[in-house]
Amino acid sequence: MIEPFKKALPVLKRIEEAGYEAYFVGGAVRDYLINREIHDIDIATSAFPEEIKVIFKSTVDVGIEHGTVLVIEEGEPYEITTFRSESDYKDYRRPDKVTFIRSLNKDLERRDFTMNAMAMDRTGIIIDPFHGKDAIEKRLIQTVGSADERFTEDALRILRAVRFAGQLGFRLENRTQEALGKHAHLLEHIAIERILAEFEKLLNGKSKKESIQLLTEAEIHHYLPGLSDKGTAINEIAKADINPLTSNQMWLFLLFILEEPAPQEFLKRWKMPLKKIKYLSKSLQILRNRAKREWELLDLYEAGLQSAIDVEIVYRVINKQDPETKMIEEMKLRFESLPIQERGELDVTGNDLMSWRGQAGGPWIKETMQKIEYAVLNGIIKNEKAIIKEWLESWNRR
Ligand code: ATP
Ligand code: MG
Repeated sequence: MIEPFKKALPVLKRIEEAGYEAYFVGGAVRDYLINREIHDIDIATSAFPEEIKVIFKSTVDVGIEHGTVLVIEEGEPYEITTFRSESDYKDYRRPDKVTFIRSLNKDLERRDFTMNAMAMDRTGIIIDPFHGKDAIEKRLIQTVGSADERFTEDALRILRAVRFAGQLGFRLENRTQEALGKHAHLLEHIAIERILAEFEKLLNGKSKKESIQLLTEAEIHHYLPGLSDKGTAINEIAKADINPLTSNQMWLFLLFILEEPAPQEFLKRWKMPLKKIKYLSKSLQILRNRAKREWELLDLYEAGLQSAIDVEIVYRVINKQDPETKMIEEMKLRFESLPIQERGELDVTGNDLMSWRGQAGGPWIKETMQKIEYAVLNGIIKNEKAIIKEWLESWNRR
């Protein structure tokens, strides 16, 4: 057995010693068999949540109504979920109520794809009732049971299939692929937060181009916020070499290609965190400027290094230029050679200005700070308190 399973073995042991079954399940087992890096370990058990809480000292109720308890062991968090069956799917989404059960096989049966429906016991034996290992060998994504039924039960699985294709570089098994487009309209019933989480993973996938192609072919984009009538633009995206882009860069690329007139509104519809909305709308403006002209010192400063790099990389993908690492190094050097990299680095504060002028705060402070900022950036004055004070005074005498 390999790490990080090895480290988690005592958790399985403790549950078994208390008289229950416990297994590693889901993504970790799949990634182990693919030889992919394992990020988090999920454990499934026949013990009910209250029983788990008796076994372990340190637990957090992260989703107890769905049977999940977080256990911290030796500093590592493990999600431990009671075997459950999901029968009552209403409104084509995840069931509100789940039934806790004592059977591993029934628990594996409710899972989305055969590659995700395997378990591994304490000795490393894989329990694989739906032949997930075969699917992995053939690099195939295949629903557990009827694709039509599984997508109708929970339409998010459609988007999951598409994102796994790009993330793992797998193909979709025929019937699974055929069912995608047929049920895509059911995505309208799915909470945006769940769609966003999958879409983010899709945009981060190493073969995301495949995912985007599947998305347009099955016309799934019709049911994604703000993308319903943007098939042509999305096809453009599928043609570009988007695979090296990060998720933020992908959003930027998307907004630019869509010529989105109201980026903030668009991103709000996706229920993105405000900080990210701000970053992306600011970067989009910078990208639109970059499309018109080369970088100027002030552009770099206004952007900040991260945004400048994201913008330049996306700009190069749009214009089919290689995003060379040399270019990033050059931008870093230029950015580092700026006298200041952000406003906070100015050697004066609003309080300084008020005490020098003997005047209360007001809009004049912001104006003066800006004046100082531009003078420092353009090398007219040094970023030193005494020099700035002197410069302001000479300026007032004029
Ligand atoms: P990742 O590596 O992206 O975390 P994952 O397979 O672990 O992939 P999760 O969303 O973490 O995906 O879900 C864990 C497991 O729960 C899956 O492997 C699958 O067995 C099951 N699962 C998750 N979402 C669904 C769903 N919508 N329908 C059925 N089973 C699901
Ligand atoms: Mg996971």
